[in-house]
Amino acid sequence: MPVDDIRSHLGLRPVINVSGTMTSLGASIVVPAAVEAVSGILTEFVEIADLHRKASTVIAELTGAEAGFITASCSAAISLAVAASMTGPDLAAIERLPDATGLKDEVVIQSGHMVSYGAPIEQAIRLAGAKVVPVGQATSASAYQLAGAITERTAAAVYVVSHHVVEYGQIPLKIFVEGAHARGVPVIVDAASEYDLTGLLASGADLVLHSGHKFLGGPTSGIVAGSKARVRDVYLQNRGIGRGMKVGKEGIVGALAALQAWKTRDHDGIRKRERRALDCWAEALEGRPGVTVAIVPDPTSNPLDRLKVSVAAADARITAWDLADRLATGSRPVIVRDHEVEHGYFFLDPCNLHPDEELVVAFRLAEELDAASMSNAIIATPLTERLMAREAAILNWPD
Ligand SMILES: *Cc1c(COP(=O)(O)O)cnc(C)c1O
Repeated sequence: MPVDDIRSHLGLRPVINVSGTMTSLGASIVVPAAVEAVSGILTEFVEIADLHRKASTVIAELTGAEAGFITASCSAAISLAVAASMTGPDLAAIERLPDATGLKDEVVIQSGHMVSYGAPIEQAIRLAGAKVVPVGQATSASAYQLAGAITERTAAAVYVVSHHVVEYGQIPLKIFVEGAHARGVPVIVDAASEYDLTGLLASGADLVLHSGHKFLGGPTSGIVAGSKARVRDVYLQNRGIGRGMKVGKEGIVGALAALQAWKTRDHDGIRKRERRALDCWAEALEGRPGVTVAIVPDPTSNPLDRLKVSVAAADARITAWDLADRLATGSRPVIVRDHEVEHGYFFLDPCNLHPDEELVVAFRLAEELDAASMSNAIIATPLTERLMAREAAILNWPD
């Protein structure tokens, strides 16, 4: 770690992120153009409505939408997009939220899309004063169930595109949009982590929401794209519930710069660099007893591959989750993507690495597997114990 790393000044661990763009780890490496833009605006005054107009133009250009808006996060964008579908441009109604008296206040969403991204999406919907109406069951939803859930009180239909959703048995976006539009209901798509900035709008979605701080490499922010009228109605929520979700000048110019940098980013070069990291790790793990690797494409077709590391505890002498936990310790903690680790595997995500960090990851993998291979007993914390410890740890903050 460089000695002038701000983390060492703050007494924080120099974690290496092979987990993905996680809020809990600081999201992503902000691209240089955005860093520069943020530091350029911090000391200046600017007319915020005009800055938002400029942002709208840039979002429109990148997404093919008529207009765009930047807010605090994609989660904020969900709340504000739902609020906008309830109030339209009625300023008095905007000030009354979350009291939704007299407004359409139901939001339909497939049960299999009721995800948590660190907080429940249905809460982001309810924050606007709306009621959540689930469609279908977790692993099966059909067009007739969507039609049956829509009433004269339905304000919007929310659709999530994400690796978090149940990956089968869901209504395809096109059919979802047709079903909602047939009843005059707008479709809001949560595409927080989706690299495709144009396809979802082209499929008929009315508002598409992205995170600014994930694949785009901007500062913490959320991006809304859609028609002029609908995006204006989202923007107007800053006079109401959006106030507490406002983004400052630095967030707006940073997200703008990240969007502009996205146009000229060397996507192929980055893909190649990421592939080299995967190859480096695969090589480090080759021939190790009980460890098998596979390169796995992103489940929602983002142009991103990850290395799936499967660990057979009997031969590796350590479980996948104990290996993940041990990698996260020491002077170079490595945080892996472990959402599915109870199945005996984790992933290594190459999209958030500084130069040469992949070598540290390879070294740490070898180090922990070597240590495990010399252990007398198989290192195997019961899964339930790990789970309960993690749950207990939530309340340990700040001490
Ligand atoms: C990350 C994520 C969010 C939340 O995005 P923020 O910008 O961090 O608020 C919402 N939905 C999905 C599917 C996500 O992956």
